[in-house]
Amino acid sequence: MKSYKIALLAGDGIGPEIMQEAIKIFKVIESRNEVQFELIPAPFGANAYFSHGHPFPDETKAVCDKADAILKGPIGLSHEESKKIPVELQPERGALLPLRRRYNTYANFRPVSLPKELAHFSPLKPEIIGDGIDLLMIRELVGGLYFGEKETGINDQGLRYVKESLEYDEEQIRRILHVAFKQAMRRKKILHNIHKSNVLKSSVLWNEVLEEVAVEYPDVEVRHLLVDAAATLLCLNPTQFDVMVMENMFGDILSDQGGGILGSLGLMPSACLGDEKAYYEPSHGSAPDIAGKNIANPYSMIGSVAMMLENSFDMEEEAKNVWNAMQSVFADGYSTPDLSKPGANVKMINTDEFGDKVVEKLSQ
Ligand code: NAD
Repeated sequence: MKSYKIALLAGDGIGPEIMQEAIKIFKVIESRNEVQFELIPAPFGANAYFSHGHPFPDETKAVCDKADAILKGPIGLSHEESKKIPVELQPERGALLPLRRRYNTYANFRPVSLPKELAHFSPLKPEIIGDGIDLLMIRELVGGLYFGEKETGINDQGLRYVKESLEYDEEQIRRILHVAFKQAMRRKKILHNIHKSNVLKSSVLWNEVLEEVAVEYPDVEVRHLLVDAAATLLCLNPTQFDVMVMENMFGDILSDQGGGILGSLGLMPSACLGDEKAYYEPSHGSAPDIAGKNIANPYSMIGSVAMMLENSFDMEEEAKNVWNAMQSVFADGYSTPDLSKPGANVKMINTDEFGDKVVEKLSQ
C-alpha cells in the first residue's frame, strides 16, 4: 500500500467549496487502489492572515514541507476587502509568490481544453472551435516581473514613482524551454513561442536561448508569435495551437483568456511543477462575487486533482478516468451556472451536485 501526504490549502472565496469536491475524488481513488491519501488541511491566504496573522503561516509551511504534493484553492479578496490587509501581506504577495519560490515550482501547466461536443459552452462560434480546442499553455512561474526587484519612492521632481524589474537569467529560460519542448515531443511536435522581442530585451534573450535549446529537438517545429498577436489568434483561431510557452506575466494573462474562450475560468485547472515538489491549483481566483453560493464550477479543482494523480503519483489511468467522468457529466446535459444560461436546454446543477455526479461516473 502506497501512502501519500497531501497538504490541502482550501484558500479564500470559493476555495473551500470546490476543495470539498476534490476531497470526494481522493476518496474514490483510494477505495479501489492500493493507495492511501493523508489529507492535511492548512490555512493559507486571506483567511490565514485573519486567523494567524500571516497568509502563509509557519504551521502551513511545515505541513507543505512534509507533503508529497499540495492541492491549493484560490486565494484573495475583492478589491475593497483587500485593503484590510497590509500590501506586503496581501495573499498573492504574502502567500502565493512565497509558495512558488519556496518549492521552486517553475513550470506551470495550464491545459485549455474543450471537446467539440461542448462547443456550446464557449463564446466562440462552433466553426471556430472546429474539432475542439486542446492546447497546453506552459508558463514560467518563478521569474520575470513578479519576482524582480521592486522600488517605490519620491523622485527628484517630488512625484511618487515605482520601479519593478523583469529579470531572467539564461538558466531559468533554458529549463522552462526544455520542459516545453519535451511536452511538444509528446504531443503534436509544434511549439508556439510567445514573446515580445520587438520591445522587451528579456524576450530577445529568451529567443536566443530558444534557438540553442531547439537544436536538441529537431523534430519540433517552432512557431514564433508576439504575445499581442497571440491574444488575438487565441480568439480567431485557437485550434492552430498545441503547446505554447511563455514567461510569467504573459502566461498569467493569456491563460485567463484561455478560460474565456472555453466559456469559464471554472474550466481551468493547473499544475505547478518543480524538480522536488509540485503543487496543483485552479488557474482562477477566489471569485468573491459567487463565494458561499454553492454555484462555483469545481471542474478546475477536480482537474487539478487529476493532474496531481498523473504528475505526482504516476496514476495516469485514474487521472484519465477523472477527466472522462467530468466530461460525461457534461455530456449528460448537466452544467454549472457559469457555463450556461438558464433555459439553455441544460440541467443546471450546483457545485456539490457536480462533485457527486463526477463521483458517480468515476465509481461506475
Ligand atoms: P477570479 O478568477 O476570481 O474571477 C473572475 C470571474 O470568473 C468571476 O466572475 C468569477 O465568478 C468567475 N470564476 C472564477 N472561477 C470560477 C469557478 N470555478 N466557477 C465559476 N465561476 C468562476 O478573478 P478576480 O475576481 O479578478 O479575483 C478575485 C481574487 O482572486 C483577487 O483577490 C485575486 O487577486 C485573486 N486571484 C488569486 C489567484 C490564485 O490564487 N492563484 C489567481 C487569480 C486571482
